[in-house]
Amino acid sequence: MSKWRCGVCGIVLDVDSPPEVCPKCGAPKDKFSQIPEDQANLIDRSRLSNNLHMEILDIMIKVAELAQKGIDDNLDPGCLKIFTEAKEQAVLFQQKIKAELQTHMNRGKWG
Ligand SMILES: [Zn+2]
Repeated sequence: MSKWRCGVCGIVLDVDSPPEVCPKCGAPKDKFSQIPEDQANLIDRSRLSNNLHMEILDIMIKVAELAQKGIDDNLDPGCLKIFTEAKEQAVLFQQKIKAELQTHMNRGKWG
């Protein structure tokens, strides 16, 4: 299967031939161009990496929620220290991942 990009909205489709009209913006078939194989491979790798980032982002959101429960319970200073650090790091990782995904989008590494 090859990849085709709509020249109007930028959507990338994994199809053997371009659709009659773009499913996203409705542009006609002739607005689509086939993506060369080396670029198509890079898009597949970018998709994988982006999916990994998003899975880790979900986990970090969960870590922050769990840590907050521990902070609220506040059993003893040792627990509070760990939960506080875990929450800080989980929130920091969320911001790092969002910034990285933003650079992927800006560089067109999103398809
Ligand atoms: Zn389109």
